Amino acid sequence: MSFSKKLKQFFTSKPKNNNWDGLIEAYKPWLPVTKKTPIITLKEGATPLIEIKSIANRIGKGVKVYAKYDGLNPTGSFKDRGMTMAISKAKEDGCEAVICASTGNTSASAAAYAKRGGMRAFVVIPDGYVAQGKLAQALVYGAEILAIKGNFDKALDIVRELSNKYPITLVNSVNPYRLQGQKTAAFEIIENLGNAPDWLCIPMGNAGNITAYWMGFEEYFYANKSKQLPRMMGFQASGSAPLVEGKSISNPETIATAIRIGNPVNKEKALLARESSKGKFSSVTDLEIINAYKILGKEEGIFCEPASAASVAGLLKLKNDVPKNSTIVCVLTGNGLKDPDCAINNNDSIFHTDVEPDMNSIIKKMGF
Ligand SMILES: *Cc1c(COP(=O)(O)O)cnc(C)c1O
Repeated sequence: MSFSKKLKQFFTSKPKNNNWDGLIEAYKPWLPVTKKTPIITLKEGATPLIEIKSIANRIGKGVKVYAKYDGLNPTGSFKDRGMTMAISKAKEDGCEAVICASTGNTSASAAAYAKRGGMRAFVVIPDGYVAQGKLAQALVYGAEILAIKGNFDKALDIVRELSNKYPITLVNSVNPYRLQGQKTAAFEIIENLGNAPDWLCIPMGNAGNITAYWMGFEEYFYANKSKQLPRMMGFQASGSAPLVEGKSISNPETIATAIRIGNPVNKEKALLARESSKGKFSSVTDLEIINAYKILGKEEGIFCEPASAASVAGLLKLKNDVPKNSTIVCVLTGNGLKDPDCAINNNDSIFHTDVEPDMNSIIKKMGF
């Protein structure tokens, strides 16, 4: 082929992923949508599955470990998968306003999708406990924010009652459409690997995502799209581990604010997923979370938020239980840029200050 022909072909061909129209379009037959459903999308989904050898090497035994990097969704967390469904269905029902309680990511996602669908978005957040990036998003997307003197669990109680009494749609993960949208992450993993993994490691807050993944894995398994089901390995922060301790926590505390939840609404469903999958729930300390967070950053170039690193911290904690030659997927639920304070306060980088603006001083600081 001549150069000019090649050049012409290059400029007329479309990029490969140009035909991705979001997860509702991609998985329509698996989702509760009809021809009448207006699809509100920011082309969420189709996030990468990235091999993380630094973690596999720490485990050994010939295992392969992957990160499902869902922090690359349009608003930076997996919440977008559920929100495209919840907001599309709310729009279909003629709803004009939505509300949620949020540790931050739900409010960012709800605001973005609600605004795209021409609706008002009200978000109730625990004052002082929402990471800065998430707050910035809710503000830019034009959410109406109500910061309460109370934690997430209290906020959720209030919005549940409110949405029962007023014409406003609740978009927390008690909304069944949320879990329907979120289950598509399991479909994508099976399509990438050609099978379900042996283990799925995932952080748990309200435990909606683990429930959704299990639903997705089961649906594809029973449709013969995978040969096996994974064990569902759920992780909580040790100061906020109601599902591990088997009781509600009235004052949950952890650096991983996205999973700072003491009374998970999807508790029963998550326990069922654990039982059916022969899975396991464990807790990890904030120190273990930050250790995993740093490894992902400086050894893999993957910046996730602390809550997400709980999945990797949990895997490292259970490394003795990992079967030989197994394939493991850790879900990285949110983007590291969401929580810049955490990054700035928890890193091992060398930061030279007061450097004279000349080559000699710089070279000296560099250690040459
Ligand atoms: C919401 C969230 C979680 C917890 O998901 P649940 O469905 O509530 O268990 C974990 N990580 C991040 C980053 C989140 O935004």
